[in-house]
Amino acid sequence: MTTPHAPAPDELAALRHRYRLERERRVRPDGAAQYRDADAEFGYYAADPYTEGPVERGPLHDTVDVAVIGGGFGGILAGARLRQQGVERVRIVDKGGDVGGTWYWNRYPGVHCDIEAHVYLPMLDETGYVPEWKYSPGDEIRRHAMRIAHRFDLYPDALFSTGVTALTWDEASESWIVATDRGDAFRATYVVTATGTLTDPKLPGIPGIEDFKGHTFHTSRWDYAYTGGTPEGGMTDLADKRVGIVGTGATGIQVIPLLAEDAAHLYVFQRTPSTVDVRANRRTTASDVGADREGWAHERRENYLRIVSGEPEDRDLVADQWTASAGLLEKLLPSFRRQGDRKTFEAAYDVADAAKMNELRARIEQTVTDPETARKLQPWYRYACKRPTFSDLYYPAFNRDNVTLVDTADTHGIERITEHGVVVGGMAYELDCLIFATGFNVGTSGIHSGKLPVHGRGGVQLLHTWARQGPRTLHGLTSNGFPNLIQMGPLQNASSVNFTHILDEQAVHAAALIAAAEAGGALIEPSRETEDAWLAVLAEGAPDHEWFHAECTPGYYNREGRGRPNGPHAYPHGAVAFHQLLKQWRDESVGEILQARTAPR
Ligand code: NDP
Repeated sequence: MTTPHAPAPDELAALRHRYRLERERRVRPDGAAQYRDADAEFGYYAADPYTEGPVERGPLHDTVDVAVIGGGFGGILAGARLRQQGVERVRIVDKGGDVGGTWYWNRYPGVHCDIEAHVYLPMLDETGYVPEWKYSPGDEIRRHAMRIAHRFDLYPDALFSTGVTALTWDEASESWIVATDRGDAFRATYVVTATGTLTDPKLPGIPGIEDFKGHTFHTSRWDYAYTGGTPEGGMTDLADKRVGIVGTGATGIQVIPLLAEDAAHLYVFQRTPSTVDVRANRRTTASDVGADREGWAHERRENYLRIVSGEPEDRDLVADQWTASAGLLEKLLPSFRRQGDRKTFEAAYDVADAAKMNELRARIEQTVTDPETARKLQPWYRYACKRPTFSDLYYPAFNRDNVTLVDTADTHGIERITEHGVVVGGMAYELDCLIFATGFNVGTSGIHSGKLPVHGRGGVQLLHTWARQGPRTLHGLTSNGFPNLIQMGPLQNASSVNFTHILDEQAVHAAALIAAAEAGGALIEPSRETEDAWLAVLAEGAPDHEWFHAECTPGYYNREGRGRPNGPHAYPHGAVAFHQLLKQWRDESVGEILQARTAPR
């Protein structure tokens, strides 16, 4: 951690006090219940604007080796790694009209990935692709997802514009029946779920939201037919429009500068300001990243993971704001335990945190000319309370005459929506267009949403068993009672800001499990004792980080101010150690979850 301007003790005490007040100002009694899903009467907000009518086809009742639910990076990496293991019939199923997952849906103007492209884009060594920018635009990322899908021949069997509605284990044939909203009921020997974490758009339950008569949409379903332009901007159809945008998270920060350029007037409805750090995007060449050497991308990705996981590392190949702030972000990982008790840790942490936050607040004062607007844009919480964001265009946008920042913190967000616009603090703002940059139902999508029931042995539902006892898995990937089901995602597994790296390790593991089961004519299913042993590993090293989240402003990191859910949810020793553990387990212990099949193949 760097401490450029070590704050004095009384400054630290004043900061903590201020942070407490800001949190109290924002916590709402309704917590996560303040949001509503983009379905039923709000289904319009989740419709696919990018694919014109799904391809006509009849329902399928055939059999595949592996059904992969989700065609984002998790799903296509699973497909690619399965191909490398020689698996033939792999069927990806996705609601979108193509692969890409979150990058299929999020095509809003300005969309970029703020993790360096050379570590974020997976399989660069395998595909020979070298990203063109340090931080890729969404289109480059989506095209890379398609590149992997083509390279590993995942298109012929894929089903797009298709939502899986149920997964049911059939004891007699020892295979899964995959039901979809297109009438399919096909069989799969194995199912890999890669249903994502930022999948289902959510809307604020603002009174009157259904009354608005102007145009409206969610950022993850950008309506270029209305705005004109492309993800690079040029939204000429907004030249005579009063546009309102709700939300200033990682998405809002990227889209607002481009809307500011094109709208007649832009109203930014902010509830909690984000931290917005230096972006410094630039074009890159192969020689910049040493892409002439074999295995360069693998090496760079491992280097990055070690640094952002708080592990010692001599070189910093990526050298960006994430690696510079790793000590602040990985507060809950090994560095936390090395600091001893909470008091010692907190004291050291807060000095570094205050220095970083002071630097970010100063950036606003130096950029935004109107002091009142600058004051409203300043974030008052610890750096890791909310997801950091990065932009060199965001703050300058507020110096434009056609941009108005409307702070909604005192009213817990927008008070009311009317036919003609929105009301904040008794003041009405008339709008032609209202855009929701209000994020996603994090952690409750796909098989964790209840909308996609998974029936295992004896018809038992996965979420029903977890409702009683909490989630039970081995490595987050397999569960007793649900044979041949591999669940990708962060639960009881590892996490990192570079989530595609985590997904790739899971994909390698999933493919190895399936190859081992095929070789042994076996089923993949951990015993309850194996699950218990994994839960004990998770619980044993789990750091007490509840206090940290309890002091944060509300958001999806702390269930809107209510703290983390109970129970061990992540491997406590970090992603690097977790990947070593997985590899060793594959080499030595995979046999412990292979059970004899009884049904003939
Ligand atoms: P977020 O959930 O992060 O942000 C939602 C925004 O909407 C917040 O500013 C929130 O305010 C605001 N909001 C919600 N309800 C109201 C209301 N009633 N009135 C006013 N404001 C309201 O969603 P994003 O789409 O921005 O980002 C989601 C995640 O997607 C990110 O955290 C990140 O993980 C990922 N992402 C990654 C990118 C990348 O470059 N890698 C780019 C974009 C997104 P409040 O904070 O007060 O709740």
